[in-house]
Amino acid sequence: MTPIKNKGKLTVGLVSLGCPKNLIDSEVILGKLGEKGYILTSSYLSADIIIVNTCSFISAAREESYEVISRIIRNKSPHQKLIVCGCLPQLEKRKLFSKFPEIDALLGTSDFHQIDKVIEKTILKKERVFSVSKPQFIYNSNFSRLVSTPPGYAYLKIAEGCSNRCSYCLIPRLRGSFRSREINDVIKEAKDLATMGIKEVILIAQDTSFYGNDRGEKNYLSSLLKKLEKIKGIEWIRLLYLHPLHFDFEIIKLMKYSSKICRYLDIPVQHTHNDILKLMGRPPFEKTLRIIEKARENIPEISLRTTLIVGFPGEREHHFKKLLKDIEKLQFDWLGVFTYSREKGTPAYFMPSQLPHEVKEKRKKIILKLQQSITEKKNRERIGKTYPVIVDIALDIDLMKEGEGHTFFQAPEIDGKSVFKEPFSQGSIFQGKVKEVKNTFDLYVCRV
Ligand code: SF4
Repeated sequence: MTPIKNKGKLTVGLVSLGCPKNLIDSEVILGKLGEKGYILTSSYLSADIIIVNTCSFISAAREESYEVISRIIRNKSPHQKLIVCGCLPQLEKRKLFSKFPEIDALLGTSDFHQIDKVIEKTILKKERVFSVSKPQFIYNSNFSRLVSTPPGYAYLKIAEGCSNRCSYCLIPRLRGSFRSREINDVIKEAKDLATMGIKEVILIAQDTSFYGNDRGEKNYLSSLLKKLEKIKGIEWIRLLYLHPLHFDFEIIKLMKYSSKICRYLDIPVQHTHNDILKLMGRPPFEKTLRIIEKARENIPEISLRTTLIVGFPGEREHHFKKLLKDIEKLQFDWLGVFTYSREKGTPAYFMPSQLPHEVKEKRKKIILKLQQSITEKKNRERIGKTYPVIVDIALDIDLMKEGEGHTFFQAPEIDGKSVFKEPFSQGSIFQGKVKEVKNTFDLYVCRV
């Protein structure tokens, strides 16, 4: 990464929608523009150039993107430029121009790094730009990146795209086939992050377990972890999105003996009934079960997270009952549920027995209610125990706002938080004793 210079030109504001993978793309956009001398502002509605980096993997995400774009269009002046990037232009292509004639440029998931040239064209030559190519790009450590997460942690994208073909998923179409970054390039970026004071790196990809397979490498993820552990300043390493099919059991061994790799596994199971998993194009449930058993056998205090999809075509009452029973049995620390979203261009779109919206919503509610009781119970078991906490937001006495941080068993932004009322500086780590459960998800902690 190169340092960002500010030459004081036009102002740019960016809205990043969707997941942390998209957030990194947004950070690369901001890095590039900062390097070119644009003034970056968080009040995006008043910026000369407004960029929206969109998400569109399910209809709810598309709706959110449309809403944000419409709101900006309603509030912006004709002199302000509007650029839409990411998954939505990749999916809808030029149709977005017809839907929103006020958009000045569209850039796909492999084109956003050319943002500076696109801005020059729209501003200087007053051209309307359409740049959506086949998804093949992945950034590297030579790109500037403006890290936007709190000072203690940063995401690190180790690969882009996906070569699995889950029958419901649009992501391979939006992001292309899986492509891993070279290990030394990831290490170089991690060292740069450590130099900036980042203590925790969170490794992400569509399928983190697959890292290196596209390069014909074996145990590439374990090798990466071993190298990351040696970086001075990096104290925590967290893994997200570990698809069960390619999971390397060596990771559990590394986690067990490492003082840096968080004892935390995020394994998207999606369902537990093999009839449904087969229709989804996912590995049988036993594969995930073996990982969970091995992980708990070796690391009893490990924190487990998963995601589910309910209401998949053909999911009958007995399939759902099994899912419910397994969730009760497996006792995940954290769990997210999506209702199945019927997406054109995916095999599941044509599957018979599509379920009504109300059934899907009802099943989601039932799972969430069950999981809330499990998460709350697990949080109660932590009362009186001490854990290191990274400070994400410092206590603000003037605004009467409590401080917020996270432990190894809480992934920032997706799991519950550790809340405190003492003055710790942002990005620091303190030993926090769990005093009580604030609500189902969050904990009150205090200095030991
Ligand atoms: S693993 Fe499946 S659900 Fe995840 S991005 Fe790839 S195709 Fe989509």
